Amino acid sequence: MTNSLLEFDREHIWHPYTSATNPLSVYPVERAEGVRIILKDGRELIDGMASWWSMIHGYNNPVLNKALIDQTRKMAHVMFGGLTHEPAVNLAKLLVDISPEGLEHIFLADSGSVSVEVALKMAIQYWQATGKPQKNRLMTVRGGYHGDTIGAMAVCDPVNGMHSLFTSILPQHVFADVPDCPYHKPFDESSFADFRQKIEKHAHELAAVILEPVVQGAGGMRFYSPEYLRKVREACDEFDVLLICDEIATGLGRAGALFASNLAGISPDIMCLGKSLTGGYMTLAATLASSRVAKGISAEGGVFMHGPTFMGNPLACAVANASVNLLLESDWETRIPQITQRMEAGFAPCRDMDHVADVRTLGAIGVVEMKEPVEMESIQRQFVERGVWVRPFGRLVYVMPPYVISDDDLDTLTSAICEVVSLQK
Ligand code: PMP
Repeated sequence: MTNSLLEFDREHIWHPYTSATNPLSVYPVERAEGVRIILKDGRELIDGMASWWSMIHGYNNPVLNKALIDQTRKMAHVMFGGLTHEPAVNLAKLLVDISPEGLEHIFLADSGSVSVEVALKMAIQYWQATGKPQKNRLMTVRGGYHGDTIGAMAVCDPVNGMHSLFTSILPQHVFADVPDCPYHKPFDESSFADFRQKIEKHAHELAAVILEPVVQGAGGMRFYSPEYLRKVREACDEFDVLLICDEIATGLGRAGALFASNLAGISPDIMCLGKSLTGGYMTLAATLASSRVAKGISAEGGVFMHGPTFMGNPLACAVANASVNLLLESDWETRIPQITQRMEAGFAPCRDMDHVADVRTLGAIGVVEMKEPVEMESIQRQFVERGVWVRPFGRLVYVMPPYVISDDDLDTLTSAICEVVSLQK
């Protein structure tokens, strides 16, 4: 059974970022429970990835299961054009309530990348509707990642991202240097100089700045100073450019604050949420906008031009409500700093390894940056052999475990990483 399943998978199914004809190995999963992924061959893996940042409360969570089952009995889906429902309204209320001040208009999109497209379109439409259509370019920082769709790709890092493959169709935006001001070091004013100079120069043609607040995720797992983000906010105000914070990876506690924007005490004009919004159960994202943006777009009868089939899907909204409430009722504010400390201690042996460039932690994110890229197929196997699920990329071996992970499981995870990293010399 397992063999025929794997054979069909290998022959016919595309997995992320791998060849269709000579793909990297995949491990068949039977089920998952709490922080454990149980493979078809019976092996259990402690999950260090929370299914790409999303599964914050663990797998097979009874509260989320119940929310989903209860909603399924009422309706799995209904179109959002001309209809509405409690799961969407309750979720929107909750997001308005907990998000940074001023974000009051909620667009329920179907994935992180789509919520970024929605954010970009909102910014462009805003300036068109308010009589400045020439403000139609975007600015961002190098080292970012915002998704795989065309609009999102155009604001991903031009080198690490997929720009070179798609140069002919990607709009050319403005890129400032990567924020070179590590979170844990005193802020160096000069790190903001390039951003400042570029926003000043291009403000007349800029609709918005988009960036990941404080944590640059898939573009390099870098943590930069909240002071930099504060300066971005100030510059956007000074030069009349909208600010979009992509909190898809950081939102809902991951960076140690409910939103990474809170670390800098700022509110963006537009904010994207996704990943952990449904506790990793379903694909759902949200684009939150300020009244200025919403009213601007809607002035003189304007409408926002986006409306996907599965907008506001009731199942996804119901499970998102349950997940966000579960988080708010939990002791995440004490647990996440404990996770940080435990990872910091657990990764300590890696700091002394010659082939390790850096070890850093923030919130429930732990990173061991190697000097050379790792060999994916073999390192993946070494992790699985040690009963943990960690999926590095490039030079980065990192974890962002479910928030419900126990100290013992976290210790197993970090010591397996130290051991495997030590073997990569
Ligand atoms: N923005 C950020 C910051 C992300 O980390 C991701 C996903 N890794 C996305 C956008 C895209 O989200 P999705 O994969 O759900 O389309």
